[in-house]
Amino acid sequence: MIFLKLLFHVFIFLLLTIATQIGGVIYLVSLFLVKKNSEKKALRRFLYFSIIYLIATFIIVPNISPFFGREKIKESEVLQAHSFFYKLANRNYVKPELNTVISKIAIDFSTKNKGIKLIYLDANFPFFDKFPLLPHLSHNDGKKIDISFVYATNEALSNKKPSISGYGVYENSTTKEFNQTEFCKDKGYWQYDFPKYLTLGTINKDIAFSNKANKDLIEILVNQKEVGKIFIEPHLKNRLNLSSDKIRFHGCGAVRHDDHIHFQLK
Ligand SMILES: [Zn+2]
Repeated sequence: MIFLKLLFHVFIFLLLTIATQIGGVIYLVSLFLVKKNSEKKALRRFLYFSIIYLIATFIIVPNISPFFGREKIKESEVLQAHSFFYKLANRNYVKPELNTVISKIAIDFSTKNKGIKLIYLDANFPFFDKFPLLPHLSHNDGKKIDISFVYATNEALSNKKPSISGYGVYENSTTKEFNQTEFCKDKGYWQYDFPKYLTLGTINKDIAFSNKANKDLIEILVNQKEVGKIFIEPHLKNRLNLSSDKIRFHGCGAVRHDDHIHFQLK
């Protein structure tokens, strides 16, 4: 019984650490603060955890992270997270240089496309290089960020996206285009389209991938001298007629990039 309890605590600790970086440690603190024999132990622990976690996430961490070379993404009218989850889980930290670049990209893009926002997904955690933000192994140094593609309803650009989580709804290759997914899966890379299980549900079925707006957006990315690499699926690079050598193929060992754009600093 004690062993099972311990296993449970370890499991929660790992889960919270993987999802939020600081949650696991705060869970341990709340275990420590609420004594074993106290009344309504589980409820009290949950309350302690929630309060400390919220204070840490929204007040303490944003003030400490600059000492670790990272800052919270500065949101604006034109730059926003896909959902509150990314901010609640501390997945919205970047190096100051990346913060400057994404604001600039958002402003450039919305100037060209009135009313359309730059929507970001997973960036990095606030602390420690080499601490990966799973499932993205490379998002571990403050220099990486994922952003959403842009979609349109009846030709009019929209801020709607097709997936609740922000990942896993693909802009598939047509029969005339190269099918990278089939190629990678045939080679045994079973994980290549794994994010299809991570949508948390598909929404806004009336929207369609906008070739024009996504080309605009990626060209703005390419034109930033601070941006090193950009990952999208090869069939989209072709379809959008993009030729910059900053736009690379991420390799079959990664996952599909026709549900989002990844880019990183040099
Ligand atoms: Zn990424």
